Amino acid sequence: MENLKVIIIGAGMGGLTAGIALQQAGYSVEIYDRVKELRPAGAAISLWSNGVKVLNRLGLGHAIAQVGGQMDRTAYYSSTGEPLTDFSLQPLIDQVGQRPYPVTRTELQQLLLRAVGVETVRLNSKCLNVEQDEKGVTAFFEDGHQTTGDVLIAADGTHSVLRSYVLGYPIERNYVGYVNWNGLVPASEDLAPKNSWVLYVGEHKRASLMPVGRDPSELGGGDRFYFFLDVPLPKGTVSRPETYQEELFSFFKGWASPVQTLIERLDPTTTSRVEIHDVDPLPTLVRGRVALLGDAAHGTAPDVGQGGCQALEDALVLANYLQTTNVSVEDALKRYEAARIDRVADIIQRARKRSDMTHGKQPEKTQQWYEELKREDGSNIMAAIANTILGGPLN
Ligand SMILES: Cc1cc2nc3c(=O)[nH]c(=O)nc-3n(C[C@H](O)[C@H](O)[C@H](O)COP(=O)(O)OP(=O)(O)OC[C@H]3O[C@@H](n4cnc5c(N)ncnc54)[C@H](O)[C@@H]3O)c2cc1C
Repeated sequence: MENLKVIIIGAGMGGLTAGIALQQAGYSVEIYDRVKELRPAGAAISLWSNGVKVLNRLGLGHAIAQVGGQMDRTAYYSSTGEPLTDFSLQPLIDQVGQRPYPVTRTELQQLLLRAVGVETVRLNSKCLNVEQDEKGVTAFFEDGHQTTGDVLIAADGTHSVLRSYVLGYPIERNYVGYVNWNGLVPASEDLAPKNSWVLYVGEHKRASLMPVGRDPSELGGGDRFYFFLDVPLPKGTVSRPETYQEELFSFFKGWASPVQTLIERLDPTTTSRVEIHDVDPLPTLVRGRVALLGDAAHGTAPDVGQGGCQALEDALVLANYLQTTNVSVEDALKRYEAARIDRVADIIQRARKRSDMTHGKQPEKTQQWYEELKREDGSNIMAAIANTILGGPLN
């Protein structure tokens, strides 16, 4: 279809990528976000090869390669520092045809924003509801503003208000059972090798360090690690940045010295603490001219590192159907739903299963996983990651 006006609610990685793909398809795009200033929540993410391939397709391959971290190896250690497995990721890269890029959320957002054009994004615009008829779809905002277009993409994140509009009823998120602290620390060899993703596992907890490239704000640039620390906890525990380190020292008491050093060096004022949730796979992703995209469409635990990558896949697939089919907008959105619904349901379920396994939902299974890691040469881990990547639209 030609000459469509597309309204996007939400300027996260999903909404921005959809904006870029739809502009490239020749459409007029308006993006709205409720915040006054765009600042990503969380420190960094691992953009696996399926997400990177979407950026490559959109002409952003060089840009992501410049800001992404060089992650050549993966290593697992026991909580006390016993090496379990350490392997090169090159066979995975060779199999799927693209290396992954761990990247800070700020740099990813800046890259996407530059590509879509800052003037495309209108901030301070909280969408309250939408209405549609056979001619178009209208979004209504808190400040009284309204806008009408041919298609509306609800990329309004995990707490999406437009999800209830699409489904016809509100849904509850599920607490997956653990709390995640994440942030950035300067990279140094006493924490982990600078080209390696290192994980310490034990007691149903995890401590992870991943290279995310140089800090562009420093002259000469310092290398950085994205870190996260996971601890199974009951729902609703509260904490304050002032006590993060004290609590983490206690949760990770007796763990190997790099984990102690990490807790010592993290900056609690820039560390995020998140209770991890997911959402059961949705029965539909579209209603007429409105399509859910990204976390609004699929709330997944981060345990397979795919929530954001799936948002990028959504964006590309949606733009493709709008561009290449011409029955109607509604028809194109139905095709998008058909192409995405099983893929994202599978990711949600796989992430939940992995979260249960790594965080001791059934302690004997977690113990078995620790034992398997001692015998792992990387092939099983890489096969699982490759399977996820190759299930995407650009395999
Ligand atoms: C701890 C953690 C680690 C993760 N690690 C990874 C990883 O390694 N790899 C990976 O691929 N994914 C990862 N994810 C998932 C990833 O962060 C999300 O899937 C991704 O950010 C979703 O992007 P989005 O654009 O759909 O939503 P968001 O980034 O949440 O953006 C939604 C936007 O909508 C705006 N908005 C909301 N409501 C309204 C409204 N009513 N009106 C206007 N604007 C509105 C918000 O302000 C926001 O800017 C991780 C998630 C967590 C929590």
